Amino acid sequence: MRITIKTPATIEGIGLHKGKAARVTFLPADGATGFRFISPAFKEPLPARLDRVAGTARGTNISDGKSTIYTVEHLLSAAAGLGIDDLDIEINGEEPPAADGSALPFAAALLKAGLLEKPGQERRELKLSARVEMTKGDISYSARPSQGVSFKLIYDYPHALVGRQEVEFTLTPENYLALVAPARTFGFTHEIEALKAAGLALGGSLENAVVIGEKEIMAKDGLRFPDEFARHKLLDLLGDLALAGLPLKDIHIEAERPGHAANVNFAKLLSEKAL
Ligand SMILES: [Zn+2]
Repeated sequence: MRITIKTPATIEGIGLHKGKAARVTFLPADGATGFRFISPAFKEPLPARLDRVAGTARGTNISDGKSTIYTVEHLLSAAAGLGIDDLDIEINGEEPPAADGSALPFAAALLKAGLLEKPGQERRELKLSARVEMTKGDISYSARPSQGVSFKLIYDYPHALVGRQEVEFTLTPENYLALVAPARTFGFTHEIEALKAAGLALGGSLENAVVIGEKEIMAKDGLRFPDEFARHKLLDLLGDLALAGLPLKDIHIEAERPGHAANVNFAKLLSEKAL
């Protein structure tokens, strides 16, 4: 049975990379239409699917070939993490609000709207019959058939305040809300100038990101988890995998040093190998 939301829900704020104000309204979807963006910039709803990915620099962007929606992964992560299949996402700008840098405000808005089961609508799922692997340099992914949906993610960054963080996680809506959705996006002070020069992180601040300096971690109200960085990478991975358009089923996924470009390639590989 497929799941959508019961009523519309709106969230407003500035985008992380473009720094512009935007309003997102989540709308119920009657049909088996997956996640779609609706905007005056698009003639028809733009499916949030792998074949629409138009960029993966510090975020995942989708495009119809003319107009782009930037940084879709946190919002999609919230929808997929809660088990939603079909959702129309109306947006009046080119990037969803950064909110607090996590997926929690999106998840909270979706839960407030209420989840709605759609009897009679078949739910296809992404399942594997055999192990799948992908490696590029020191980045690696694997997936194998399992019971339930579980992850092991390793984030490893050569910085005295970060180092190696490892998180293991079993996906249920409750676990997602408590253990993944609150993890915030982060950046390093040594990168900020270069990011801004590249037109990225223009809306970034301590209101919507954790900033890692040479000697201290700057996080509003402190870190939410000791391994918040690895958890945020898992949040991103779930959002990027949602672009496969199928909910995960009976699969164990491991990822070491994941990033958006590799996430999208791995999602493509999983789609090809899916039963
Ligand atoms: Zn992120």
